[in-house]
Amino acid sequence: MSSVPINIYDLTRAEWREQLVRWGFSEVHAARLWNYVYLQLADSFAEMPELPAKVRARLEAEAAFGKLPVAVATDSADGFTRKYLLALADGERIETVLMRFTGRVTACISSQVGCAMGCVFCATGQMGYTRNLTPGEIVAQAVHVARALRGQPDSAPPARLRNVVLMGMGEPLHNYDAVMQAIDILRDSNGLALAADRITLSTVGVVPGILRLAREKPGLHLAVSLHAATQEERAALVPVARKWPLDELMAACRTYSEATGRRIFYEWTMIEGKNDTAEQARAVGRLLRGLPAQVNLIPLNPTSGYSGAPTRGDAAKRFQRILGEEFSLPSTVRQRRGIDIAAGCGQLAIAGDGGKQSF
Ligand code: SAH
Ligand code: SF4
Repeated sequence: MSSVPINIYDLTRAEWREQLVRWGFSEVHAARLWNYVYLQLADSFAEMPELPAKVRARLEAEAAFGKLPVAVATDSADGFTRKYLLALADGERIETVLMRFTGRVTACISSQVGCAMGCVFCATGQMGYTRNLTPGEIVAQAVHVARALRGQPDSAPPARLRNVVLMGMGEPLHNYDAVMQAIDILRDSNGLALAADRITLSTVGVVPGILRLAREKPGLHLAVSLHAATQEERAALVPVARKWPLDELMAACRTYSEATGRRIFYEWTMIEGKNDTAEQARAVGRLLRGLPAQVNLIPLNPTSGYSGAPTRGDAAKRFQRILGEEFSLPSTVRQRRGIDIAAGCGQLAIAGDGGKQSF
């Protein structure tokens, strides 16, 4: 027997079939196990009466539910956003956010503890990189939200998790294999059954990762954090642009769109006086000309380590008007959610002492 238990959430259904066969059981039990874990959202083997006692005993001995206990749950004043500080087995912590919009619920999940990319305006970047999450730790965040939705007293029938954005802590393409394994598990049609086009992966612009996505075509929505339309301006905000310069990034985006036939979302965190002028709107219009694209404008959210100010309301409108009228480029201004509880884009961070960072 192995000393480290297998995290139930780490394996795909096919891998569970193989594992059960390796233990000398019939693979049919994998389907039941999967139902319990992802349809009934069971969190103990005791809740699996239809599994033979021998199978359950082996699971008890060699596997564990990699649950992520809630250290703190915080609700935004408007009631639309709930942020969970979740504890990992090694004592690290991550944040997962449940957001309600009209007619839909979205889970914003993390892919790493901290982030190595160092974007100047991002609280996760400001805390630095600790480690990658395992597939099971990524899946467990979605399971946690699915369970929270099911348990709501005020929702009849219970809400189902249908939308996931990989926009929490970390850079998902810096943890490619674990993220893709987690997405396979989330998409399994006999489980949480998330549709690929309800999963959005946001990247800072990890060029090899984008090219790999172009080859593997998992069918997700891809969002690329652009923030600036020239190499120099971008490198000042996103240091990793020195490693993967803007021209290489745009070439990779073009390859991705050609290979997949998909439009990319380009995110643009709007900082007053830095990247919100009419001239910069025209520069991004020219940069994206001919590409299937939509621009998502995100007014800067405050973080302790960056002194920039959010763009003013009319600058975002002007930006949108220029993109639309002069370049026929669709754009949206992201609805701000959970700013009062530091759950907005780029605000997720865990202070070094394990407590929450306050702003
Ligand atoms: N690492 C990925 C995904 C997580 S961040 C990425 O960078 O794309 C999700 C989005 O929030 C990114 O577009 C990021 O640039 C943006 N963001 C980061 N900090 C922000 C802040 N303080 N205010 C507004 N948006 C921010
Ligand atoms: Fe990392 Fe994304 Fe934050 Fe940049 S914006 S530091 S890539 S999490």
